[in-house]
Amino acid sequence: MKIYLDGKLVEKHEAAVSVFDHGLLYGDGVFEGIRTYDSLVFRLKEHIDRLYKSADAIQLKIPLTKMEMMEAVIMTLKANRLTDAYIRLVVTRGVGDLGLDPRKCKRPTIFIITDKIALYPKEFYEKGLAIVTATTKRNLPQALDPRIKSLNYLNNILAKIDAIESGAEEAIMLTNDDYVAECTGDNIFIVKDGELLTPPPDVGALEGITRDAVIGIARRNGIPFKEKMLRMEDVYAADEVFLTGTAAEIIPVVAIDGRKIGAGEPGAITLKLRNEFKKLTATDGVRY
Ligand code: PMP
Repeated sequence: MKIYLDGKLVEKHEAAVSVFDHGLLYGDGVFEGIRTYDSLVFRLKEHIDRLYKSADAIQLKIPLTKMEMMEAVIMTLKANRLTDAYIRLVVTRGVGDLGLDPRKCKRPTIFIITDKIALYPKEFYEKGLAIVTATTKRNLPQALDPRIKSLNYLNNILAKIDAIESGAEEAIMLTNDDYVAECTGDNIFIVKDGELLTPPPDVGALEGITRDAVIGIARRNGIPFKEKMLRMEDVYAADEVFLTGTAAEIIPVVAIDGRKIGAGEPGAITLKLRNEFKKLTATDGVRY
């Protein structure tokens, strides 16, 4: 397996970063998770735009143009001859000293891993997921904005541990004042009386690329949609619930905290959106 590391393709066993890298020491950096479908990179430009926006938000200047970054992604995919891949693109503050000071880091570290995609088991898509509400609250946007896709994922990992301890795969994270934000690695949507609803990202959620794709599909297919602040009561009372993410795509949720959602099986709008999403991934992307 070839890894892109600071401008070069190197073998996996040679792809190492320094223990003084602030990405490792402090989670100081940003990343993207991108996916390809049959040699099409889904929404590459949108992912690169989000990466640079995240970098901007933490005052990290990426030493490549967006075009060069896209070329680096494509080069890595080609070198590994992968047609259906998961891409992890990481930019750290770089190598510094043991202090926090980002000025000590002279050059960001950039690496790109392209690997086979690891999916949720098929039965989760057919039967739906049972998830829980995390006790860990989502980061306060005024402290560390969840719209920044930073390397600091401890907040999400603590909520993931909540999920695991309850025997679930995913957990809903609430804001400090108990509005629904998102899940540990996915956005959340509900369907109520034919209308599609999802929390606005500024409550404390990543602006997911899959989320945007789903909103676009809903608009084109006449499914009423709006962003709305949601409480857990709204989610429990929903007709359908599903999660979206690059790896998960669109995954139905049929139970939350032991309560059945809707009919307890994947709903019609979720299935319609899944179908349309599948068509989109077959056409909407950068070919390599
Ligand atoms: N929220 C969080 C916290 C995430 O990490 C992710 C990505 N895994 C998402 C939402 C979904 O975003 P996307 O659709 O861009 O993958």
